[in-house]
Amino acid sequence: MKLISIVVPCYNEQEVLPLFYREITNVMARIKDKHSDTEFELLFINDGSKDETLKCLRELAVNDSRVRYISFSRNFGKEAGMYAGLQNSKGDYVVVMDADLQHPPAFIPQMYEYVLSGEYDCATTRRVSREGESKIRSWFSRKFYKIMNKISQTEIVDGAQDFRFMTRQMVDAILSMKEYNRFSKGIFSWVGFRTKYMPYENVERAAGNTTWSFKSLFKYSLEGIFAFSTAPLSISSFLGILSFIIAFIMILVLVIKWLAFGDPVQGYTTTICVILMMGGLQLFCIGILGQYLSKTYLESKNRPIYIIHETENDVRKENHIENDKH
Ligand code: UDP
Ligand code: MG
Repeated sequence: MKLISIVVPCYNEQEVLPLFYREITNVMARIKDKHSDTEFELLFINDGSKDETLKCLRELAVNDSRVRYISFSRNFGKEAGMYAGLQNSKGDYVVVMDADLQHPPAFIPQMYEYVLSGEYDCATTRRVSREGESKIRSWFSRKFYKIMNKISQTEIVDGAQDFRFMTRQMVDAILSMKEYNRFSKGIFSWVGFRTKYMPYENVERAAGNTTWSFKSLFKYSLEGIFAFSTAPLSISSFLGILSFIIAFIMILVLVIKWLAFGDPVQGYTTTICVILMMGGLQLFCIGILGQYLSKTYLESKNRPIYIIHETENDVRKENHIENDKH
């Protein structure tokens, strides 16, 4: 028997959950027709939703023994949701996907075939178009990937997504990275393994709203840079050396001018400008240092990545349903 775990982080997804459940169970049935030795578990992570998501998950868990869920004590973010899902999944294979049907379940059978063939350890989709996204947004995205790949050893594939079909081996590798500041796009690529990228066109969310504003995306990309590159630190060293060289040349010029022409240094404005510029530069570099320090600070606290408030076991106990014996 082979077990496939489908991990779905959910934050305020009450509108799409029924749609998602219908689609995913169809796909599960289709796979089962072809591979009768395959079982499924659906593991939803309720990331502190403020709507009826939890109620919806409780109902699903009562009616379908394949459904499991973990409900967080508050909103911990999608990264924490994915981590919790991977950690609590029991499958030989694990699929991570969004609840909003932007990750079409119809891809899963093909992904399964790729991984079963033994040629790949992971199958994932890769967006080839950025339709339905504003021009400025896609411009920033493209620039981000370009810069990121220049300054980081870890390759971050443009358009790659968190929709993945992975072997247990790869999941265990991801779980061995216990960092608190999680940047999955980097983590997936850092662990390596043979990955099949399947091209696909962007689809709109089935219902509900995205939680990503431009600001949060920008913050997310900075997270990525600080988590997977130390280039900003090198930039500050470089700036330091550069300004030292410029200053040295200026001193030489001034001294020679003074010796040769007896020309006393003049220019209050220049002095003030240079002081202000150097001050700004120094603060900028200290700021970069501070970014890394704050990450180290958070890591060193060693806080848990998520906190569970309730799982499917609670609701099954309440309803006197025996647990699945997976
Ligand atoms: N999500 C989550 N916690 C959050 C924000 C989002 O678990 O704090 C989930 C959300 O329910 C969805 C997935 O992450 O299943 C992707 O979120 P969204 O669709 O808002 O992002 P987008 O598709 O716009 O990148
Ligand atoms: Mg989405």
